[in-house]
Amino acid sequence: MPSKQRKPTLAVWKFASCDGCQLSLLDCEDELLQVAGAVQIANFLEASSAVQPGPYDLSLVEGSITTPHDAERIQAIRKSSRFLVTIGACATAGGIQALRNFADVEEFTRIVYAKPEYIKTLKHSTPISEHVKVDFELRGCPINKGQLLEVISAFLHKRRPNIPQHSVCLE
Ligand code: SF4
Repeated sequence: MPSKQRKPTLAVWKFASCDGCQLSLLDCEDELLQVAGAVQIANFLEASSAVQPGPYDLSLVEGSITTPHDAERIQAIRKSSRFLVTIGACATAGGIQALRNFADVEEFTRIVYAKPEYIKTLKHSTPISEHVKVDFELRGCPINKGQLLEVISAFLHKRRPNIPQHSVCLE
């Protein structure tokens, strides 16, 4: 009897963000059911608390890097992902939280938090591509769900996403 073919694994990761881009994926409803039939969703905390260990065939990353812990975590995610795609303006450009890049973040934390000494944050909010290799950047705030489905489908079928203006290398 032929062995059952392994489904590709999909992981969705969150960094500093509002969750709006992950909600775009959840908002796909029927299409998401088709995606769920084609892939094994191994990590998607917005949809399920079940987390499966890597490696992952495709990781979607939302959010920017704003803490020392973020900077370590994205390295581990990159190591465990065959392809890594960033989704949304936070992940591709630093997001609205990158306004801190032009101000004194220590002054902000002093003003906002009662115990600023507990806050461990970086001076800048940076896109994921400043930390690890990114295979594709899907821009938008929030992202377009049709484009998101196209990107997922393209990577799962090892073809170039039919979205203009980006270059991608599938190895
Ligand atoms: Fe939210 Fe926009 Fe960031 Fe997406 S890009 S997580 S919608 S703020």
